Amino acid sequence: MLVLKSEIAHETALPDIGLHIPEIMPDEFHLGYFGRFATLSGFENEKVADAFLREGFSDGIMQSAYNLMPLKLAKLLNISPDDFVKNHTLVTLLRAAKHTEKKNHHPDVITTLGNKLAKRHASFCEKCVHEDIDYWGVSYWRRSHQLTGVGICLKHNENLCRVGTRNAIYEQPASHLRNHNFLLNDTGVKDAENPYVIKFMELINDFMDMEANINGAALSKLLANKAKQLDLRIHAEGSRKLLSDLLIEKYPPGWIELHFPSLQLKKQGEFFHEYDGALISSFSQSVTKLLLAIPVLLPDADSRILSHSGNIKPVVQPKKPVLSQNQLIESYVSNQGNINQISASLNRKSSKISAKLRLLGCPALGTVDKATLSALNAFYNGAPLAEAMLTPNININVFSEILRVSGAHVKKAINFRQSL
Ligand SMILES: [Zn+2]
Repeated sequence: MLVLKSEIAHETALPDIGLHIPEIMPDEFHLGYFGRFATLSGFENEKVADAFLREGFSDGIMQSAYNLMPLKLAKLLNISPDDFVKNHTLVTLLRAAKHTEKKNHHPDVITTLGNKLAKRHASFCEKCVHEDIDYWGVSYWRRSHQLTGVGICLKHNENLCRVGTRNAIYEQPASHLRNHNFLLNDTGVKDAENPYVIKFMELINDFMDMEANINGAALSKLLANKAKQLDLRIHAEGSRKLLSDLLIEKYPPGWIELHFPSLQLKKQGEFFHEYDGALISSFSQSVTKLLLAIPVLLPDADSRILSHSGNIKPVVQPKKPVLSQNQLIESYVSNQGNINQISASLNRKSSKISAKLRLLGCPALGTVDKATLSALNAFYNGAPLAEAMLTPNININVFSEILRVSGAHVKKAINFRQSL
């Protein structure tokens, strides 16, 4: 790090007290780290510190078009951009769930997401602050406390404190604690007793530890399948219940208000793209919204579901009850041997229906022309075969084929048509 300092010194005016590059802490959120760096190095304010980093670390990685905090800090700390973004920012959570697209540290991705918080406020745990000061001598902002939907410290099972003032994250949590500049998320622990919230927090934490990004399209498809089984509506039109309705039903209202306030304004039955869109794979899914859907649609799933790639078929379609011979024949007669109509009325594939009916001596009659049908009718009602075969315009091939495979039900099916 000293070498770095002398490299920069000749082109940048350093602050009087010298550059101080603190170690980055485990789970430390990068914007909080930047605040610590700026303060410790004696920069007048964050803007000056930021300008210093931009000038001091512009090189091949940082094209002049990009002035990206995570990349600058990675460079300052000599950590690979990939590792830095993965371990110290919220980019993986905030970006859309497209695992095949650009890497998380790609400038196009972090340009808009690199300095964002996932919540509307910065969060810290009072107990962690005291422990950190005792152990490290400083307090710092933990990334795991900044995750959407996480209102408690999972280590201490305590409500998180939240600070909503602008740029609060550049100042150590200990100073906000000292100045009483925070609100207590007092429903945090209570909300976290909700089984869906517990599952959500588990998933989001495991997601942050994952090596690869989520395959949003595959996960979305899996969730949509499950939603259909639960008879939920996945499209805008219709009147059935939606995923967004189910979310409001299952998650605690206080928790929704704090973490997903837009959901609170939704009316029952109103399609809400931001949430219901998670089930339409052509959407650019939000990781958070996919994670939000998992506990309510697949309450038994564990974090392995986050690696779902679409290669396996974990959702087994429920088996349809076996059709009885009587049901088949009844439908054959009432639909006058029309296979398409029979398969539609029984909700089965037409190829299967047709094969089963043939075994029962019920050939397809839907495409048989009028003349042949009336010849068959005449025959079944007692006319001699030779006479029936002389019917004008009869298709002899079809006529004889039907007679060859047919059983008693053909007569009924044909009569059924005539009697209507
Ligand atoms: Zn804590």
